[in-house]
Amino acid sequence: MALPNKPKGELKADVNPEIVEHDVDVLIVGGGMAACGTAFEIKKWAPEDLKIMLVDKASLERSGAVAQGLSAINTYIGENPIEDYVKMVRNDLMGVVREDLIYDCGRHVDESVKLFEEWGLPVWKKDADGENLDGAKPAPSLREGGTPVRTGKWQIMINGESYKCIVAEPAQTALGADNVLERVFIVKLLLDKNKPNQIAGAAGFSTRENKVHIFRCKTAMVACGGAVNIFRPRSTGEGKGRAWYPVWNAGSTYTMCAQVGATLTMMENRFTPSRFKDGYGPVGAWFLLFKAKVSNGLGEFYAMGDAAKEELANYMPYGASAVTPTCLRNHLMINELKEGRGPIYMATDVALNAFLDERREAGMDEKKLKKFWKHLESEAWEDFLDMSVGQAGLWAGMNIEPEKVGSEIMPTEPYMLGSHSGCCGIWTSGPEEDWVPDVQNDSRVHKYKWGYNRMTTVDGLFTAGDGVGASGHKFSSGSHAEGRIAAKQMVKFCRDNADFTPELKQTPQEIADEIYAPVKRYHDFVGASTAADVNPNYCKPAGLMMRLMKATDEYGGGVATYYMTSGKLLNICLDLLQLLREDAEKMAAGDLHELLRCWENYHRIWCVETHIRHIEFRKESRYPGFYYRSDYPTCDDENWKCFVNSTFDPETQEWKCEKVECINIIETDP
Ligand code: FAD
Repeated sequence: MALPNKPKGELKADVNPEIVEHDVDVLIVGGGMAACGTAFEIKKWAPEDLKIMLVDKASLERSGAVAQGLSAINTYIGENPIEDYVKMVRNDLMGVVREDLIYDCGRHVDESVKLFEEWGLPVWKKDADGENLDGAKPAPSLREGGTPVRTGKWQIMINGESYKCIVAEPAQTALGADNVLERVFIVKLLLDKNKPNQIAGAAGFSTRENKVHIFRCKTAMVACGGAVNIFRPRSTGEGKGRAWYPVWNAGSTYTMCAQVGATLTMMENRFTPSRFKDGYGPVGAWFLLFKAKVSNGLGEFYAMGDAAKEELANYMPYGASAVTPTCLRNHLMINELKEGRGPIYMATDVALNAFLDERREAGMDEKKLKKFWKHLESEAWEDFLDMSVGQAGLWAGMNIEPEKVGSEIMPTEPYMLGSHSGCCGIWTSGPEEDWVPDVQNDSRVHKYKWGYNRMTTVDGLFTAGDGVGASGHKFSSGSHAEGRIAAKQMVKFCRDNADFTPELKQTPQEIADEIYAPVKRYHDFVGASTAADVNPNYCKPAGLMMRLMKATDEYGGGVATYYMTSGKLLNICLDLLQLLREDAEKMAAGDLHELLRCWENYHRIWCVETHIRHIEFRKESRYPGFYYRSDYPTCDDENWKCFVNSTFDPETQEWKCEKVECINIIETDP
């Protein structure tokens, strides 16, 4: 069969893109777990004539952090008290969290999981004897009282390669395919011309056609995930595209909301996961399902020894908890590496053989044992194939037999996110409940509720999932639930503001010119040199991204310094970021792919600048193992058990960082 004669490469960018204008009531920006939750739920509450549109940078079916699939849902409350969930999150995030938001997520999350199962997601169950059914055999559904296979107190196992497709379909069906715009990258949010602090629209461009899209809306949900490639990744050369976090989330949530004046919270928080080296494969199933442990290069299970206990005692009360916070587990690992006792291994061999020994001792015959072993082995591989195919490829390529040798794990480069084991994000209103603190302050920056649950400090602007700050550990299910929570509130906002007609400050042509400026620059100057990539009048986005990564890596506590920074280094980093911002004005794009890369860079620079500002403001090391300040090396509860909130004023272009009281709602265990 002859191949179609398609032109090769990306679509060249035209200096005069077509401008397409949309008038909607509700705009959903992003198409991940949170946005799908909003899209599905909102139709239940919205009147027929409410116009709703969803815009995703990628394709809804496979976009966001769940794109490759997952093998566990990490938040399912089930038989547990919601209070315990709040306590777990609070402890893992070193005490500084919004307990109202976490509790609220906890009381809604199971409904999302039950919906996923009804939509076709296979959830592993136990039979009456407590034996695992791996999703293939029929069992009562969660709603009918079926017992899920738990790997930890909060996690349940799924056959989740197609998880995102399963969640995307009902979202798209609810809105109608015509109301879902894919492959449109939103560049900026737009405030209303007449009403200060009121969202009125957004603008972006198609990554497939020469078109700029401008939206006017009454309310917007921004759920574009977290940020990756803001620090130099450990992978190099051809492997550079490999990272733990999905490479398409470029900090758009935090940047776009901050730019219109939404208050951010805990942007100093970052997530530095420890994962299988080079492939960034997941470790959760190994720790929880296979009960594997980590050893150092000397074969010592260092995390279980007296030295570890002594070290953790420096971080009380968090270090004494039954489950050591993620950052402190990293801290112990980093200490081993710094002392030269690396590499760190996940002892897969010990764990798998322990399972066999256990069965052997219980009298299992050799034939059954062989069958059991095959099952165990396939589950180990499936865990990677479900959610990180590259790691399976790496193991195969390196002849790794997990039952014979351990595999190296390593703390990765830092990422910014608010729904996994991190909590940076946007300051939002909690639910209108009596148990949510009613802080008497004129400014929303200090309040915990102001009318619409999950609305940011900007009227009509909502967020969910990675967007909502100070409340991590939502994961896929909690992000979906949070999107659903916000959906209802957005309908209420539209109803309460029925007479509001959004008006934009800029003309459509001004917006299009701003978005396509890198294309114009390319066309204006490309003739000045013989190579399109080397030019005295512009720089290309790839080079600028490398400069950004070098600055943050060396001065902002990246892998280059074992995550160590200081006031002095942070200020150098801020100066470099200022220079980068100036030079970013000179980026040029020859095709639509490069235009995307240019705007991702703008978003990354802004987002990581908020991170550096917050770390600089917080004079302590709140998350040892994620980052350290050499000038304030301890975790100082006396002075810093508080939120750090920051707000950018779009009028004056000034930043303000401030301390905000952290109020406990759920009692601490004696
Ligand atoms: P995402 O789901 O990431 O969605 C972001 C969306 O925004 C995407 O659709 C993207 O295309 C779009 N977007 C980005 N920028 C723009 C823009 N400028 N304009 C328009 N659209 C844009 N959870 C579990 O329950 N179990 C697990 O085992 C698990 N493992 C994980 C493993 C990894 C590697 C990661 C990164 C996460 C994992 N999670 C897991 C967590 C879960 O994936 C996230 O909590 C969840 O996806 C967050 O939802 P979200 O909607 O905020 O972001």
